[in-house]
Amino acid sequence: MRGYMESTRENCPHSGGLQAVVGSGFRCSVCETRLDLEGVERWVRDAEIARDEAHLTIEGDDEFMRIVLDERQREVYRRRKVLYELRSAPRVVATRPEMILISYDAVEDSYECRIFYKEPRPAGGLERVSIEADLEPILELRSHPDPNVRLACDKVEEFHALRRRLAEQDNPPPLRRVFYQNEL
Ligand SMILES: [Zn+2]
Repeated sequence: MRGYMESTRENCPHSGGLQAVVGSGFRCSVCETRLDLEGVERWVRDAEIARDEAHLTIEGDDEFMRIVLDERQREVYRRRKVLYELRSAPRVVATRPEMILISYDAVEDSYECRIFYKEPRPAGGLERVSIEADLEPILELRSHPDPNVRLACDKVEEFHALRRRLAEQDNPPPLRRVFYQNEL
């Protein structure tokens, strides 16, 4: 059994199943591993390979290996079931914003970011984000759980870079910028 465990990509069996995470695939609530659909397919394949290996090593009436084979076969079924459930679950599609408005606040030296949605607004979707006007805090937002905040963060980064470039050329940098849906 040791070789089998080591050959799997993850040692956690994800025994609680995998939950869909908006915009970033599937997550095991035990080990926090995140997998996309291909990752889940590989995870199923790992179990199939382990089962086939057990199948090949069985000779005659090897009782122990039969138990191992049974266990591995059950693991294949369990993982396939998880995969089928994920495939058949309705896709959680994040509503895209209609417009993102970024304004520079000179007093706070920060960007005020407003995210506008067409009705209905996604549940829990943030409408306002304030970010310090520095590259590091902007990049930190890239790992925000809300995909639209990550999108806004990309736009803030773009706007920040433009303002820096203009300032270096002694041009007055713009104080606000609107990104419409076709630019998002
Ligand atoms: Zn896990």
